[in-house]
Amino acid sequence: MQNDVVRAQPSCEDDYDPASLTCDEALERILETVSAVTDTETLAVRDALGRVLAEPVISAIDVPSHTNSAMDGYAVRADDLPHRGTKRLKIMGNAFAGKPYRGQVGRNQTIRIMTGAVVPPETNIVIMQEQVETDGHHITIDGRHKIGQNVRAAGEDMVAGSVVLRSGRIIGPAELGLVASLGIGELSVKRRPRVAFFSTGDELRGVGEKLNIGEIYDSNRYTLHGMLRRLGADIIDMGVVRDERDAVDSALVQAAASADVVITSGGVSVGEADYIKEVLTEIGTIRFWKVAMKPGRPLAFGTIDGSVFFGLPGNPVSVMVTFYQFVQPALLAIMGAEQQPQLLIKALAANALKKRPGRVEYQRGFLSTNEAGELIVATAADQGSGILSSMSNANCFVVLPMASGHIEAGSPVEVQPFFGIM
Ligand code: AMP
Ligand code: MG
Repeated sequence: MQNDVVRAQPSCEDDYDPASLTCDEALERILETVSAVTDTETLAVRDALGRVLAEPVISAIDVPSHTNSAMDGYAVRADDLPHRGTKRLKIMGNAFAGKPYRGQVGRNQTIRIMTGAVVPPETNIVIMQEQVETDGHHITIDGRHKIGQNVRAAGEDMVAGSVVLRSGRIIGPAELGLVASLGIGELSVKRRPRVAFFSTGDELRGVGEKLNIGEIYDSNRYTLHGMLRRLGADIIDMGVVRDERDAVDSALVQAAASADVVITSGGVSVGEADYIKEVLTEIGTIRFWKVAMKPGRPLAFGTIDGSVFFGLPGNPVSVMVTFYQFVQPALLAIMGAEQQPQLLIKALAANALKKRPGRVEYQRGFLSTNEAGELIVATAADQGSGILSSMSNANCFVVLPMASGHIEAGSPVEVQPFFGIM
């Protein structure tokens, strides 16, 4: 009997729970609920860093625009290559990057050419300067050269008229350079998603305040700030909301009125002061509120008045895990970004990992290579969902599948590196 009561209200410590969705089902529901913002804006290229392209970038020119040399050396005609022995060619002039040779290169002639300089159309081979003998007026070459060697063809990077970047692409450093190499100065990008968030909990104090017994500093709004800013969201930090029904109710309504996405932390479990789920049922729609994962099982997802709502658990590690597994993919979809394939890497467990079957676990790990060059992953300290230092000391999640039990040292496990998702 006692046991049944406990079962009826699953806590983070139980494992299999039939009412929970799997992580895949949860993500599927999220992605079928959200839609991309439609508003766009035009920005100077540099200001588009981290933004999502609203239109494809099409090249108006060939890049490179001219066939040019990949080396410092001599531009040579293919019909001047000796079939056997060596051949002397007369040096007719120079071609520098940005200063082409203006004449024609005839039979038995060559020019000195620098990296990036236009390759004269009569020539189609660049011979490295180290591979010729020269007296300053002539060079002597042998026949061991191939047509096209050390020559970069016009358009070999991008051809005029081609789609260089599809819409939905996130602009990173490479894309900034790529766009600049096309001579394009402005980009049409999607507007940033607006995200409002607040923490719930009577025990929470702000940085700078004095802690009374039983109180803690609100760290979740700081981690959320960091994760959201990194993603390029426009953020509305609504502070801490007390564990009172009306306060939670009006904060949610206000948040939904001003943002595309509303995120709360805390108050989604089954404690007496946990009103989030209750209020959401009244002012919006709950799509699910339990996922078979650890940490993070109580995770509420729904909609309020056209906004998407995530009720993240209160524990600091749970906030980060659920954000990266669910909120980030949702935000990317809302930003209109093309979904990135999830990068899971196999590594060997450097130590035994504790796990019970029933939920997918996202343990914090540290990925490195051992002396044999194999990828190994060590557990990053205590795995408690309140141990935020485990996130800071980790560089990956160790993703242990639902059915898996304890993992022995030396067994292969799947790892999701932070550098792939942050
Ligand atoms: P809850 O989900 O509200 O029951 O909270 C679960 C645990 O997370 C409790 O130990 C809370 O004190 C803690 N917690 C909740 N919100 C925060 C926050 N904003 N910053 C740090 N810890 C929190
Ligand atoms: Mg709470």
